Amino acid sequence: MEYLSDLGAVPRGMHRPHDPGSGPTFVRGRGAWLWDSDGKDYIDLTSSYSSLNFGHSHPELVRVAQEQLATLPHLTGAPTPWRNELCRRLAELAPMRKPLKTWLCTTGARAIEAAWKIAFARKPGTILAFDQGFHGRSISTSLISQTARLPILDPDSASIGSNPLPFPQCLTCPFGEKPTTCSLPCFESIERILEERGEEISAVIVEPAIGARGYLFAPDRFFHRLREWTESSNVLLIADEIQTGLGRLGSLFASESQGWQPDLIVLGKSLGGGLVPISAVIGSSTLMDLLEPGMESETFAGDPLGCRIALSVLDMLDSPLFARVNLIGERFRYNIMKGMDPQNVIVEGAGCTAIIEFFPQMPHHGRQLAGEFARKARENGVLVHRTGPQQNRIVLLPPFVITDTEIETAIERLRRCT
Ligand code: PLP
Repeated sequence: MEYLSDLGAVPRGMHRPHDPGSGPTFVRGRGAWLWDSDGKDYIDLTSSYSSLNFGHSHPELVRVAQEQLATLPHLTGAPTPWRNELCRRLAELAPMRKPLKTWLCTTGARAIEAAWKIAFARKPGTILAFDQGFHGRSISTSLISQTARLPILDPDSASIGSNPLPFPQCLTCPFGEKPTTCSLPCFESIERILEERGEEISAVIVEPAIGARGYLFAPDRFFHRLREWTESSNVLLIADEIQTGLGRLGSLFASESQGWQPDLIVLGKSLGGGLVPISAVIGSSTLMDLLEPGMESETFAGDPLGCRIALSVLDMLDSPLFARVNLIGERFRYNIMKGMDPQNVIVEGAGCTAIIEFFPQMPHHGRQLAGEFARKARENGVLVHRTGPQQNRIVLLPPFVITDTEIETAIERLRRCT
């Protein structure tokens, strides 16, 4: 069914430029599978940008949600045991110096805004983000999301984000460095911007891998340097782990496995198990208590339904799961590379991701091939993201519940795409 020609009352802008302009209408999902209105099945390797790390309609999450729906799904403001417990659990799990506290929000963008408010309450000033980063599409987060700029807003007038920091371009490194031996020459230009604006900077925000641009990776040392600079310059460092946290990169917090400690960590997406929007900011008690009562709230933030589901999500994210999560990613990367020409294609990734970049040195050509790959994948019954700064990257984000047989089926279907 062609849905763009049949939008009815849906505004055309609700389809983002990277959403497929035409294609199936989905009516049912279960685990790694989706079905369209014609009954055709698809293996969903998008996990809806990591908001479905446990697949569609995970039975345990559905059970818990049903129980909570029948007991007490919503209350605004009043404390509940589930809210208190979720704040405590996240504060306990986060890899920063204790004591920590957790602020609960609904969406990723709202949690970024809450983190931003905290940074501002500590030290008013500018927030700096990276040029490829994405932190949401609310009117304020779009100012720091270079990939979601609003032509209707002038970032200079808001004195925010008009001078983004350049994120490392490791696959096509202009300095000819290799990630394993890289001496970070690119950090010099970052440091120059930071030094120039030093006094006025309130916070720097960064993703452990740039999710919305096709999981762009940087060496761990890059984050260590950023941490050193921000720490010595009294600048808050915010890790946007909305996509990379909760297991996607193979551990609960990607920053932890990369060996750096942010001041604030922001989580979202899969915290709600794909059932409800719930997000969180975690940081030191001193920082988190900077916001006076009434400076930040949302009607649905921290409601019992969301908290109950998030607690079950945390229960499921125990350490044995991560061994499997890493294995799933490795299997996809290994098998996909086997079917590709290494001259023209790079397959990379970490944790439960597999990224195919077509023709990194000839992105125009790669863009076309990536487009064809995504289209053929959909025809063959596999959903993938086609993305990247040059639109020449295919990103696979399998759900953690995908079985070995389903992985084989997905790989077999993907082999028919090249
Ligand atoms: N930050 C990152 C890294 C994201 O990937 C996203 C969404 O894709 C957001 C923030 C915004 O989250 P939301 O769409 O829930 O507002």
